[in-house]
Formats: sequence, C-alpha cells, structure tokens
Amino acid sequence: MMELVVATRNAGKLKEIRRLLESQGVNVLGLDNFPDAPEVEEDGDTFTANAAKKAETIARVTGLSCLADDSGLVVTSLQGRPGVHSARFSGVDADDHSNNCKLLDEMTLVPGQQRQAAFCCVMALCLPNEPTRFFEGKVEGLILQQQRGAGGFGYDPLFWLSEFNCTMAELPIDTKNRISHRGQALRQVIDYLTSR
Ligand code: IMP
Repeated sequence: MMELVVATRNAGKLKEIRRLLESQGVNVLGLDNFPDAPEVEEDGDTFTANAAKKAETIARVTGLSCLADDSGLVVTSLQGRPGVHSARFSGVDADDHSNNCKLLDEMTLVPGQQRQAAFCCVMALCLPNEPTRFFEGKVEGLILQQQRGAGGFGYDPLFWLSEFNCTMAELPIDTKNRISHRGQALRQVIDYLTSR
C-alpha cells in the first residue's frame, strides 16, 4: 500500500484529504506522526512556490512521499490580493472575521460587476525519484457587500457562487468539497496516483 504524508497541521484539511485518498488505497499520515518535522514558513510569492517548499521539505525530513497544498483568495480589483497572504490579510493576529472585515473595507468603492474573485489551490506532490508535480484547482465567484451563511471557513461567507445562487458558506459541505478549488486539485492528484 502506498504511504503519503500530508504536510498540513490543519485537522479539517487532513481529514478531508485522508477520506478521499484512503478510499483509493493510499495510507495517509499527518504531521502529527512526525513531531520533529520543522514548521515550514510560507514565504513564497506564489501558491506553487509555497506548496513546493512544504512538500519538498517534509519529503526530505521524513524520507516519504509528500503532498502539500497552498490556497487563498485572489480578488481581481485588488490586483490579486490577498493571494498568498489570505490567512494573514488583516495582520499577524488575523482571524476569519477580521480578514472579511478588511476585505469589505478595501472593496467599499468597487461596484457589483467588478467584484470578481477566485479561490485558488495548488497541490504539490513529491514522490521518490520524481520531479515535484503540481495540480491546480480554481473556483470563480463574486465578493458580496455583506456576509451570508454560517458554513465553511475563511472568506466563504463573502464568496457568491452565481450558478448555485448562494455563498460558499451556504453550500452543503459535500457540495463544497465537490466543487471547491481544493476538491478539484485533489481529484487530479488521485487521478495521477491511480493511473501510474
Ligand atoms: P491555506 O491554504 O490553509 O494556507 O489557506 C490560506 C487562507 O486562504 C485561509 O486561511 C483562508 O483565509 C483562505 N482560504 C483558503 N481556502 C478557503 C476556502 O475554501 N474558503 C474560504 N477561505 C479559504
């Protein structure tokens, strides 16, 4: 059975990735299994650079195959911000609420038809004796003027999905996992692993 370390300390992410990969016969380990693994600083300019750094560092220190991801919100009228800084958009003590408030604040003057945004995710897969491979997912939407819905996390309550007529925070979790940027990237990872 193939064994893969997922380079995340986010329990929710690990659970979701594990559920999908284990159904394909992959044994998924988390960073909890490697208490001495270093904290990898996400200091790259792109999602790809951050995902690669995490996957390659953890593969090296564990000696195992590794999957890592980086994701965030890309807002057109903010020239792509918050992007790789999505988690800390409102500062070092940022949380979802302060990040959403800052986003609304910065977009006060942006009219409805110019509020396009996308959630983007890059997954990096580092297998022994292979170059790191990248898999991308993207979901497009609009940033609302006020929050709606209590599900999900992060910027979900501000992210309007026209085709579903609701925000990402109002979608059932299974639907979110099916359409989300992370879901899309992960399905490509699974396709790659099962086709080798
Ligand atoms: P990371 O990939 O865990 O580093 O995520 C970075 C940040 O992007 C998160 O802290 C959220 O603010 C934002 N983000 C990433 N994915 C989502 C999502 O599915 N919904 C809402 N916010 C997200």
